[in-house]
Amino acid sequence: MSFVSYVECTVCGAAHDFTRPLNVCEICGQMLAVRYDLPKVAAAVTKQDLAARPPGMYRFRELTPLADGEEPVTLGEGGTPLLPLPRLAAHLGLGTLWAKDEGQNPTGSFKARGLGMAITRARTLGAPGFVIPSAGNAGGAAAVYAARAGLPCVVIVPRGTPPAAIFEAQIAGAHVFTIEGSIATAGKVVAKVAPLLGWFDLSTLKEPYRLEGKKTMGLELAEQLGWRMPDVLLYPTGGGTGLVGIPKAFEELVGMKWLSGMPPRFYAVQADGCAPIVRAFDDKAEVTTAWDNPTTHAAGLRVPSPFAGRQMLRILRDSGGGAVAVSEQEIQDAQRLIARVEGIWTSPEGAALVAALQRLKDADAVTRGAEIVLMFTGAGIKYDPPALPAPVDLAGSETEILAQVRRAVGR
Ligand SMILES: *Cc1c(COP(=O)(O)O)cnc(C)c1O
Repeated sequence: MSFVSYVECTVCGAAHDFTRPLNVCEICGQMLAVRYDLPKVAAAVTKQDLAARPPGMYRFRELTPLADGEEPVTLGEGGTPLLPLPRLAAHLGLGTLWAKDEGQNPTGSFKARGLGMAITRARTLGAPGFVIPSAGNAGGAAAVYAARAGLPCVVIVPRGTPPAAIFEAQIAGAHVFTIEGSIATAGKVVAKVAPLLGWFDLSTLKEPYRLEGKKTMGLELAEQLGWRMPDVLLYPTGGGTGLVGIPKAFEELVGMKWLSGMPPRFYAVQADGCAPIVRAFDDKAEVTTAWDNPTTHAAGLRVPSPFAGRQMLRILRDSGGGAVAVSEQEIQDAQRLIARVEGIWTSPEGAALVAALQRLKDADAVTRGAEIVLMFTGAGIKYDPPALPAPVDLAGSETEILAQVRRAVGR
């Protein structure tokens, strides 16, 4: 028994049978979402039950699409800390600031949650293999969870993808390909190759299970805040799985009467070199249009035509939030700042949030009284580091070496 009622198209509302592997709506081709019998979930589990369970994303089992007894394909994803950022808050002139440090997941990014869930479900429903277009971390995560499931995986990434993500996919035995262009070019090949191989297409939000994994970030966040929602949440936005998933989590918890009150104002953060959501938000458009020549070192943000643009724009507007783009220089500076003042080497995507927060503060869009959460989606170690000076090379006699150290430290 699972608590799923049906799988619903987020645009035309058509209900789908969830006992078959699903990708997009079979009527209109749009994004699907899993819907639960929330009163039944609320009757089956209490907050006290939950508190006694081990950490990790499957502690929220009743709000996942897993069938009774279904064993997850897992590497221990989820259960990441919600870290207070007092020094960064003081630096920015803000009050309560938190980071959900998703870099502590297996594979060093929150992609582990989504791909772990998607591969679990697709395997149970009979998928013989997987195909994924990726800007980097999703491909690495798909490869390792496919390996964990003992199934083959094709990963297609744009040229120039951070090498660590490519190596991660290769060492896990995936068939890895690079292609000129962006994740959009890779996606076009995947759409043709997946049916040809008969393998499951894991493209962002073109199947309903990955969202259920990403959603667990919102479930954890509510629990870590003592069953409350923050006032403001910043999300580094590419395909938008988390930006759609976190409000879905809050909505479900409200439906279970575990949460009450207003959801946070959601802000999508993108890079100046690829900001289709920011442009569509500013233009008051209902859907995004493709961004030409996307460029940014924040690989996860290099998504020129997100499939769920419509759903993301609705969330930003309904919550009273917004969308902010920041420069490559701001991202690099922010990455060094967070590491120096809080000890967190976050990915460029996470660092972009800090640059965006500075902008929001300067524009009085956020104030000192607001409780703010930043989603630090990945670990900095998976990327080329920002420009740093070379370390002082110690050479010469022992006296000279000691003098060099004292001079550098200033003591
Ligand atoms: C994929 C990725 C993103 C973007 O996430 P979406 O849910 O696709 O918007 C942000 N940061 C990192 C580190 C990523 O790997």
